[in-house]
Amino acid sequence: MTRKTFRDAQGYLRFIGSRKLVHRWKAEKKLGRRLQSGEVVHHQNKIKTDNRYGNLQVFNSRKAHQAHHIKKAWERTRRKRTLKGK
Ligand SMILES: [Zn+2]
Repeated sequence: MTRKTFRDAQGYLRFIGSRKLVHRWKAEKKLGRRLQSGEVVHHQNKIKTDNRYGNLQVFNSRKAHQAHHIKKAWERTRRKRTLKGK
């Protein structure tokens, strides 16, 4: 089943016609229910167009999503520092 998609100004894929975000649609299929408006779908590998199930992670709020990004960024700097310190 293929539906036509296009890339929006933010770099996300949307369906032509409904303009629904593909990653949110995919996440709904994965969860087996509709997403609540506050829920955020995160792309684990940061590639906005990679909408494979394994790459999508749902957070129940923008805050939880943001916290995940902050944690990841912190882990990255820590890893860099560890390498430099060798
Ligand atoms: Zn994210």
